[in-house]
Order: sequence, then C-alpha cells, then structure tokens
Amino acid sequence: MQRLIAELRNSGIADEAVLAAIAAVDRERFVSSPFVERAWENTALPIAFGQTISQPLVVAAMTEALRIGPRMKVLEIGTGSGYQAAVLAKLARRVYSIERYRPLSKGAERLLLDLRIHNVVCDIGDGSKGWPGQAPFDRIIVTAAADERPQALIDQLAMGGILIVPVGRDPTAQVVERIVKSESGLQRDTLMPVRFVPLVTGPLPVLGQG
Ligand code: SAH
Repeated sequence: MQRLIAELRNSGIADEAVLAAIAAVDRERFVSSPFVERAWENTALPIAFGQTISQPLVVAAMTEALRIGPRMKVLEIGTGSGYQAAVLAKLARRVYSIERYRPLSKGAERLLLDLRIHNVVCDIGDGSKGWPGQAPFDRIIVTAAADERPQALIDQLAMGGILIVPVGRDPTAQVVERIVKSESGLQRDTLMPVRFVPLVTGPLPVLGQG
C-alpha cells in the first residue's frame, strides 16, 4: 500500500486528503479473487460483467480534480465494484452512486456496508440521466466514457459545481474533461488521456436477482 501511495505521489498526486482516502480503502476487497495479489498495483483490473475497477492513478487524479469538501454531496455514475465510491465517501458528506447492472450495484452496496461506509447511497439505472430527485450535486464524477458531455448531469450540477467525465467512445482517444459551472457559464478543461469502458445508455439489461 505504501508503495502505491509513493507511486501516486511521484505521478503528481499532491492532495494529502486524496492520498489518505486511497490509503484508507482496502482495494483488495473490491477486486475479484484471482486478482487480490495485484490489488495494490497501479493497474486497472477486471470485475464482473466485463467491467473494470479503474487504475488507482486515474481514481486519484479524477478525485483530486473534483476538489471535494467535507460537506459536499457527490454523484458518481458507474458504481462498478464500489471502490471509487468508497474513496469519495472518505472525502464527502454523502455519495450517490448509480450503476446499470443490478448485481454490481447490490454487491457494491453490501461491501460498502461491510466496510462500515454508511454515507453512500446506491441506485440502479441509467446514470446518464443523473439522479433528479437528489439534484443539485456539488460534484459529479462519471467513471465510464461518454460519447459527449451528458447534458442532464450538467443540469444537475450546483452553481460552482464540478463535473469530471471521460469523453470519447474510441478507447484510444479518450480524455477526462473537467467542467466547472459558474454564473458566467461553463468552463472546460482537459485533464488526461484515459481508457474507460463505455457509458451505455438506453434500456437496462435484465440480469440476476441481486
Ligand atoms: N467506479 C467503478 C469502475 C467503473 S467501470 C469502480 O470503482 O469500480 C464503469 C461502470 O459503469 C461499469 O460498472 C458499468 O456497468 C457502469 N455503467 C456503464 N454505463 C452506465 C450507465 N449509463 N449508468 C450507470 N452505470 C453505467
């Protein structure tokens, strides 16, 4: 674990609160069993349904870019294993996380409770539509690659809010964008190239009973 934190620091992650959050979340619990030995490596790993738990450096960089404060309400799209949600939960007041695969959502929910993380609320559905009933959000993070900036999420961002979203369907040409909402409009900048699984919109697959 110390080696991963050192590697993140060397790669430019400077926010101590983010590094502490990553150190505090046991990634071994979130990866599937064949990969437990590699849980503290700085690498993305497979989880169920052809999805992946993101590379720690990408989790750290996207989390740092969110500039989360302890009173904030954060929305995550793409719960997956629940790892990113657990990291966010260490920094924010409350995290809302949406996943389209029921078994992944239910698994993450169970694991987070098992880890005594009680400030994450999970839901199943198409996250590109956001969570209108809980909007506005201070921060929104999308952990799957969108074709274009999801307008519903921009609409659900509070004034002064930050949206972090990987954009680009071609996995070799994705970049993380940061969108800041202010009175004078939207400010955008590009953070880093990434490779995420696609944000899949439209009808939900009927899978498992969770
Ligand atoms: N944040 C996760 C990794 C996410 S992988 C972690 O820390 O483990 C991307 C996830 O987004 C996958 O689980 C995928 O099923 C989910 N996803 C893709 N499109 C989605 C959508 N439209 N709404 C909600 N979840 C979606």
